[in-house]
Amino acid sequence: MQKDTILFDLINKELERQRNGIELIASENFTSFQVMQAMGTVPTNKYAEGYPGKRYYGGCEVVDEIETLAIERLKKVFNCTWANVQPHSGAQANGAVFLAVMKPGEKFLGLDLSMGGHLTHGSPANFSGKTYHALHYGVTKDGIVDYEQLEHIARAEKPKMIICGASAYSRDWDYKRIRAVADEIGAVVFADIAHPAGLIAAGLLNDPFDHCHIVSSTTHKTLRGPRGGIIMLRNDFENPWGYKDPKGNLRMMSNLLDLAVFPGTQGGPLEHVIAAKAVAFGEILDGSFKDYGKQIITNAQAMAKSFVSRGYNLISNGTDNHLMLIDLRNKNLTGKKAQETLDKAHITLNKNAVPFDDKSPFVTSGIRIGVPAITTRGMQETHMESIVSMIDKILMNADDENTITAVRTEVKSFMQQFPLYPELG
Ligand SMILES: *Cc1c(COP(=O)(O)O)cnc(C)c1O
Repeated sequence: MQKDTILFDLINKELERQRNGIELIASENFTSFQVMQAMGTVPTNKYAEGYPGKRYYGGCEVVDEIETLAIERLKKVFNCTWANVQPHSGAQANGAVFLAVMKPGEKFLGLDLSMGGHLTHGSPANFSGKTYHALHYGVTKDGIVDYEQLEHIARAEKPKMIICGASAYSRDWDYKRIRAVADEIGAVVFADIAHPAGLIAAGLLNDPFDHCHIVSSTTHKTLRGPRGGIIMLRNDFENPWGYKDPKGNLRMMSNLLDLAVFPGTQGGPLEHVIAAKAVAFGEILDGSFKDYGKQIITNAQAMAKSFVSRGYNLISNGTDNHLMLIDLRNKNLTGKKAQETLDKAHITLNKNAVPFDDKSPFVTSGIRIGVPAITTRGMQETHMESIVSMIDKILMNADDENTITAVRTEVKSFMQQFPLYPELG
């Protein structure tokens, strides 16, 4: 077959889009060139249902080594004793945790989607909300997790599992406090660290493994790996719900989770993506990742300060991590309008509901901004001022095509300082 120029031209077009724009979507990042190289390789051809040493197909000796390397590196990254690297995504990882812990109809408690939570934490549109009995806590008027409400609902409803973690929350978590109430009612604490995982790996935020029974994450956000999911345990434990194996022994949590990934929710693992995960975990272990994490926090703080100085209203007044949520109501703009206008100038971010939002999820009153991707591009705190100034120019002149065109040109020339994948020519 001839080279598929139609498709590869589109990929090159996407490369140019990434090179020339300012990427502020808080869940996005740029992998290293090595991570991408590993992804486009021959393990994609291999079926390997099962786990290293226990596969349902022949010829798995090499992918066994690849997957074992990924697992061993990941265990070092988070100082844990067990890990599953097969989930195809964060949502798949969470699906497996639910399947391992919960029976249909049982109760769990998670952060409300409209307050910063994730679809898989009990949205009525998601399997988690359809299959199980979802209960939700929110944030206070100040934008901080309402731990009192969480404790109140936990004591009153006795959910089997409490989920902590969020997609649009700029503050650190009090895992210890959540574990304390969970112990009172015999619940399991599940931390979904999809967003801040890289900062946790770098030791810059509270360690959820100190207090949470089960931890899941994506690998493509602050961890800077390929798109995918992972599940981890610092300490394995016998399940407290009496789930037994055929011999009548109580199953270990690790065993329940492995079974929930395969055969529970997935078929063959993506061994080429697992290879790329191994590369990314190796990069995290190599020392300079901590500096990357520190720079993320420095950049986020500088950006937050710059927005506040221009009269923007930040939920919780600031950030502890890589992102911030801005309520645009005092600027008479919706999240939708802001996202669409900034997009025209090649500044990408997403509209986001703010706590107690009066607008629909399609319109929203806010935007979510994250710095992991621009930090990977090499930006430092001084660059944050330039970016906020460009964003402000657009938002204050959202209907002026001349301003949008001028900023688009400014964005492109600004980004020339931060080359992306020079290896690709
Ligand atoms: C991004 C995210 C996920 C889901 O990850 P996908 O890979 O998109 O499925 C799960 N939980 C949280 C908190 C997230 O932010």
